[in-house]
Amino acid sequence: CFSTADTKSKLGMTWKEGDDVPYSVLCKTFEACEATTKRLEITEYLVTLFVEVIKKKPTDLLSTLYMCINKLCPDYEGLELGIGESLLMKAVAESTGRTLKVIQKDYHKTGDLGTVAKNSKSSQSTLFKPKRLTVTHVFKTLTKIAEVKGNSAQANKVGHIKGLLVACEDNEAKYLIRQLEGKLRIGLAEQTVLSALAHSIVLSKPESAKMKTEQKEQKLTYAVDLVKSVYNQLPSYNMILPALLEHPLDELKERCKMRAGIPLKPMLAHPTKSLTEVLDRFEGHPFTCEFKYDGERAQIHKLPDGSTKIYSRNSEDMSIRYPDVVEKLKKWIKPTTSSFILDCEAVAWDREKKCILPFQVLSTRKRKDVKEEEITVQVAIFAFDCLYMNGESLLQESLRTRREKLLEGFQETENEFFFAQHMDTDNIEDIQTFLDVSIKKNCEGLMVKIYDGEEASYEPSKRSRNWLKVKKDYLGTGGVGDSMDLVVVGAFLGKGKRTNVYGSFLLGCYDPNSGDYQTVCKLGTGFSDENLKDFYETLKNYTIPTVPRYYQIGDNPEAPDVWFEPKVVWEVKCADLSISPRYMAGVGLVDETRGISLRFPRFIRIRDDKEAEDSTTNEQIVEFYESQSNGHD
Ligand code: ATP
Repeated sequence: CFSTADTKSKLGMTWKEGDDVPYSVLCKTFEACEATTKRLEITEYLVTLFVEVIKKKPTDLLSTLYMCINKLCPDYEGLELGIGESLLMKAVAESTGRTLKVIQKDYHKTGDLGTVAKNSKSSQSTLFKPKRLTVTHVFKTLTKIAEVKGNSAQANKVGHIKGLLVACEDNEAKYLIRQLEGKLRIGLAEQTVLSALAHSIVLSKPESAKMKTEQKEQKLTYAVDLVKSVYNQLPSYNMILPALLEHPLDELKERCKMRAGIPLKPMLAHPTKSLTEVLDRFEGHPFTCEFKYDGERAQIHKLPDGSTKIYSRNSEDMSIRYPDVVEKLKKWIKPTTSSFILDCEAVAWDREKKCILPFQVLSTRKRKDVKEEEITVQVAIFAFDCLYMNGESLLQESLRTRREKLLEGFQETENEFFFAQHMDTDNIEDIQTFLDVSIKKNCEGLMVKIYDGEEASYEPSKRSRNWLKVKKDYLGTGGVGDSMDLVVVGAFLGKGKRTNVYGSFLLGCYDPNSGDYQTVCKLGTGFSDENLKDFYETLKNYTIPTVPRYYQIGDNPEAPDVWFEPKVVWEVKCADLSISPRYMAGVGLVDETRGISLRFPRFIRIRDDKEAEDSTTNEQIVEFYESQSNGHD
């Protein structure tokens, strides 16, 4: 991917060396990315931008990069955009002199508040020209907007937004509003941004101009693999960028090592439909079976300074949600253990009967303002992996070694802390018995993992085939091997018994490449009356006036009565999957125009530990479809 002079002039890369990066350049890059679906083209635009920034104002690279992924800081710092549309409409109205009614009407028509802001600006005549916006100024102001708290927070936010809007020109208002909404949605997946970053580091070095094409391509591939693998272990651009900019690429791994206090993206597992499938897949490899506990993933960190942090599967800081765990942790650690990162499941626990309680009990535990003395749902921690200990990364070690470290460094403590129960055998009857015991003990089934050798290393952020999940509920059904986690994108008003609430829902899966949601089924089964009332109350806050452009809904959809922002994720079970012209999941992957849909979907539970972007992807849906025993069409 080499940036050309044409691309440079298209993106308006004419600002002076040493000057701040103009916001207009970033917005032109966004516009170019939005106009194509080709990943290579998108990468080229980004590389052109990054190389230019590195050349002219390297200190602006961090804010430029964060703006491209529409974040303000690493996920674990928890500072997010996502300003409500009513506040944004107010700011657009006040800064352009149009009435709120007109803005609302335009929004109903276009479904994109960014476009409404841009059009409102172009119909406005301005007497004086404010200073042009720079990327760093916009980034700093967005950060301030996200940080504002207290009584006059709303007015303060509107003030900042108006200040930016007034200075917007051309398409800047469009992208500014989308950034504030927290949904840029121009197809900039984080993986693409990481590749572009790696390319631009190589291409901005003077020696790259002298490299032969083949040598350059090798170097680019090396850089992409390196940057992605380092980012998986240390997901912080604040730490990686300085190392990339100031030191040779070959030193990156050494300079940016994983550390306690910075959460890794966890390794995930592949679903299977039978124990024989597991045995076939792992033939010739030693493997181990563990109970699959049904709770909430918890990555527990102990820092060298003695402090403790607990992170969710999304790298969200949950330490204040689990003050009881933070308090008890010291009893579980052997004296030789100083710093560590453990991969665990937090499970609701009955201290009297000394048994695991179902997931539903855990979900009733308070999530905010948790005070230790008020906790009613007790948890026990089941540790299944040790990723880091006493300053050393264990990711490259085999699971056997990591388990040994876990057993050496910690001690089980009644009612509080346990090692995940495991059995190392390849005898199918023994595995079946172990699976039955796991179910009796309120687990979901088994996790089966490669135990020795290179494939037994820990692969952060990957849904790996070296970890297989076997869920009891899905064995022997002949359909799919797992449930799916889908986003509620719309709802149909209820009739009869369901009058006054939503009666059924339109669900979608996520396409991480484009950032779009693709419809996958209509769901009306599996709810209690209580569920329906609760969902109505929650979802009505997320209604949007029209179908957004990032929902792929098919040619002739049964349009729901209301559309929602992509916020709520539900776990759904189905009998099987079929190709359907009405739905769009995986369109273009199995069939050019038709998508895949779930047959006989049934609601299982809310997944509030997942963001919309963590929902089942279009590619996973295709895998489920293709792995069906008798592919339906
Ligand atoms: P699921 O709905 O199955 O939890 P998921 O997408 O959240 O799906 P998967 O990778 O599919 O995650 O399933 C693995 C999850 O199971 C882990 O995220 C973890 O929370 C949980 N888990 C429970 N016991 C174990 C174990 N012994 N090893 C690994 N993960 C475990």
